[in-house]
Amino acid sequence: MIDLDELMRRNVKFAASGSFEGLTIRATGNLRVIGCVDSRVDPSHVLGLGLGEATVIRNVGGRVAPSTIRTLEMLAKVSKANSGGLPPGDSHVVVLHHTECGIVQLSDYPEMLAQYFEVATTDLNAKAVSDPYESVRVDVDAIKKFLAPEVFVTGLVYDVTSGLVQVVVPPSRED
Ligand SMILES: [Zn+2]
Repeated sequence: MIDLDELMRRNVKFAASGSFEGLTIRATGNLRVIGCVDSRVDPSHVLGLGLGEATVIRNVGGRVAPSTIRTLEMLAKVSKANSGGLPPGDSHVVVLHHTECGIVQLSDYPEMLAQYFEVATTDLNAKAVSDPYESVRVDVDAIKKFLAPEVFVTGLVYDVTSGLVQVVVPPSRED
């Protein structure tokens, strides 16, 4: 395992880099990413995001579950408290799903998944848990209902074998 000494060594190196200096609570890239907790698919690595550029929400599957919406609502309040609302310029939300996602294995636990999505087990099919290319479409549609119409929303699938992301839902917005 990576022990505390190792973590402290790495942190000292990070602090010495100074890459955190001058950053504020507002992400400079006007970007929010929803992605999976899988250690292989950290959006900052996969999409080359720098510290302070994007707000990243990670959960099992990178899914737009009710808990994700509640997190976004809380972030909107934080954003408003710090800047009076959305920052100037275009704003972008990316839903990032991936191949070989562990959430597929949870199809053996429909009650657990139903609780996660806060739906009846009979409605789980609509969540497309077994197919990231389909689930990312489902989640882009789901999240658009909760975002301001001027926000761009994109759906991507990351292939853990090739290292490449595929655009499944190109950036679009409601207005
Ligand atoms: Zn995953």
